Amino acid sequence: MTPAPATDFSRFEHLTSLIPKENVSTVTREEIKHDPAPILVLTLASEAGESRPNILGPQTLINLGKAFDQVRLELAESADKYAAVVVTAEGPAFVAGADLSISRLVTTKEDGALVAELGHVAYDLLEDLPVPTIALVNGVAIGGGLELALAADYRIVSEDVKNLSLPEAFLGLVPGWGGVYRLPRLIGPKAALRVMVDDPLSNNRVLSASEAVELGIMDLQLPADDFRSAGLDWVKQELEAASLSAQRQPERTWSEQDWKDAYAAAEKTIASRTRGIPPAPAKVLEAVVFAERGDAEGSRNAQIEILSELILTTEFQNTVYSYMELLQKRAKRPAGVPTDVQPRPISKVGVVGAGLMASQLALVFAQALQVPVHMTDINEDAANRGLGFVEKQLAKQVDRGKLSTEQAAGLKDLVTAGTDQQAFSDADFVIEAIFEELELKKQVLSGLEEIISPDCILATNTSSLSVSAMAEALAHPERLIGFHFFNPVASMPLIEIVRTESTDETALATAFQLAKTLRKTPILVKDATAFVVNRVLLRFMSEIQRAFDEGTDAQTVDNALSEFGLPMTPFDLLALVGLPVAQHVTESLHASFGDRFHVSENLQRLIDANITSVWQQDDSGDKHIPAATAELLTQGDRVRSAEEIRDQVFTGLAEEIDLLLDEGVVAGPEEVDLGMILGAGWPVYRGGITPYLDQQGYSQQVRGRNFHAE
Ligand code: NAD
Repeated sequence: MTPAPATDFSRFEHLTSLIPKENVSTVTREEIKHDPAPILVLTLASEAGESRPNILGPQTLINLGKAFDQVRLELAESADKYAAVVVTAEGPAFVAGADLSISRLVTTKEDGALVAELGHVAYDLLEDLPVPTIALVNGVAIGGGLELALAADYRIVSEDVKNLSLPEAFLGLVPGWGGVYRLPRLIGPKAALRVMVDDPLSNNRVLSASEAVELGIMDLQLPADDFRSAGLDWVKQELEAASLSAQRQPERTWSEQDWKDAYAAAEKTIASRTRGIPPAPAKVLEAVVFAERGDAEGSRNAQIEILSELILTTEFQNTVYSYMELLQKRAKRPAGVPTDVQPRPISKVGVVGAGLMASQLALVFAQALQVPVHMTDINEDAANRGLGFVEKQLAKQVDRGKLSTEQAAGLKDLVTAGTDQQAFSDADFVIEAIFEELELKKQVLSGLEEIISPDCILATNTSSLSVSAMAEALAHPERLIGFHFFNPVASMPLIEIVRTESTDETALATAFQLAKTLRKTPILVKDATAFVVNRVLLRFMSEIQRAFDEGTDAQTVDNALSEFGLPMTPFDLLALVGLPVAQHVTESLHASFGDRFHVSENLQRLIDANITSVWQQDDSGDKHIPAATAELLTQGDRVRSAEEIRDQVFTGLAEEIDLLLDEGVVAGPEEVDLGMILGAGWPVYRGGITPYLDQQGYSQQVRGRNFHAE
């Protein structure tokens, strides 16, 4: 018998030169004694050691493919050489997904197709082995990592694994290394589309080990202690019972109606979560349709075609930038953290005010720091209202099962309120969240200095006033810092930390540490009116309101940017923020920067008439301007098209961000993007805003160069 030829991987070799810094993993082999034939264990391990999880770049995929191929050849020569093949990994992860640097480094469709095909070649070799194959999933299995496990006949997971997921639809890809084909066949189309569409579009929800077992993705979970040997014992036991089969087929099949229902549900999810703007989620659906209708070969070709297109999209590139550069790197290692001073410990917090923001602040401080928090307001009623809010929120958390009754009672005891600021005398951190009036804030802060201890840090939650002007009123301006939260405080992940010329390193270090304890992402900003997020947001709103005031109809103005993917239209955002608040901040910005910030007379008339929204929505969801509102509005005669409005808005944003960077308000465009994503919900697949401005040519047009170098 002539030996079977080895699989040729040479056509994939040049992919490795595209990714010179690949974190390569190699495959080691170990034979575990068993009668009549040993079990072969293939272990994937990063060459850089256990601190770096396995990720799938081209070289690692080739290594995997060659390891599976060698087993195939050995078994072709001697069919009973191994009783079973186990695939597992060393270190804390199984496989943490594909190497996402392909988003920058793979630049042609041909290479994209090769990357896609390589995964199929490698995984199909595993799937086709003529002996039972078992994935021992020792840690996270994300994207291509989970797809690798899906190519095995059996999957056993360690019960402490918290992240099993296929996040491709979020990232801008599809699970196109076989996931779209294998998963629906294994667990049914409805559950599979939940994992491949619903979960990624729900803030990247992930499955735990037990959830994956429940869904049928994993066959079994075993205790984390000594997982590998427990897994191998299971394999031995099943081999002895002769209950493992090679090329195991899914146990169930699914009716046409099952598939149809699953598609309808996924389409609905995509429409509601993304309005179909980024292409990837719909492509997942398309790939699953192919997988349902075609054979493995047809599905494989469709997956390769779809992936090769998506790899080149700006949506994928921007999401990788948002995810890797911003949310992984910048958010975890923020620019500007002092390295040479220690943050002050905080064992009591003071909050001045007990209004909308102050009462939310009191709650998050108590929950995250587990220290006493005292609020003060101008009278007992206001103080009690703040306290009432805290109690109500705690009760809600108990109802939702997030807190036990005892925990809620403990937190309730931590939060107190009154009118006497003497209670701040032993606080380590006091933040004011009173009315947005400079003179009032100055007066309150300087009054606090008489009461607080010399080491106490003072903070302001102002949205738009000058922190430096407040510092001028203080005997010790070095301890004042801006600590700008976003509403609603519990769910908004961003804090702008505002440094003045006089803020010292201790105050800064304490603010960064506090943000971390609150599990918020901080961005350091220099004191400048409205800081970053509100300045960018209100420049955007100014251009929209300007276009309306000058003569374009409300529908056109409000929907001109619908394809950009904002979480809501500008006029809906106005209603959410509150017309007076938006106007007030715009006035501050206008006072500092002039006509770039448009103080709308129309908006002022609505505010004066106590109107809270431009639109009224009828039962069918249609929006219209009520007659009483329309009567108050006057418009000019300059009618712009939607395209002209888009140009005006994006040109304005490029100009404003350029100025922000010139003024040194933030360290770089990355901070602006991080702020817009976390503070305003701007789309990750646009990279926040600056990559989009580069890609659309606005950066070149306005500033003669891009925000990001090629
Ligand atoms: P709010 O009107 O709900 O609350 C302000 C509270 O401060 C009131 O209860 C008032 O009685 C109290 N107060 C006024 N003077 C006081 C004094 N001398 N001593 C003690 N209490 C006093 O306002 P808010 O929306 O909570 O805003 C508070 C601050 O937070 C403002 O600076 C605002 O710009 C900022 N902020 C607001 C938001 C938001 O979305 N509302 C977001 C971020 C920051």
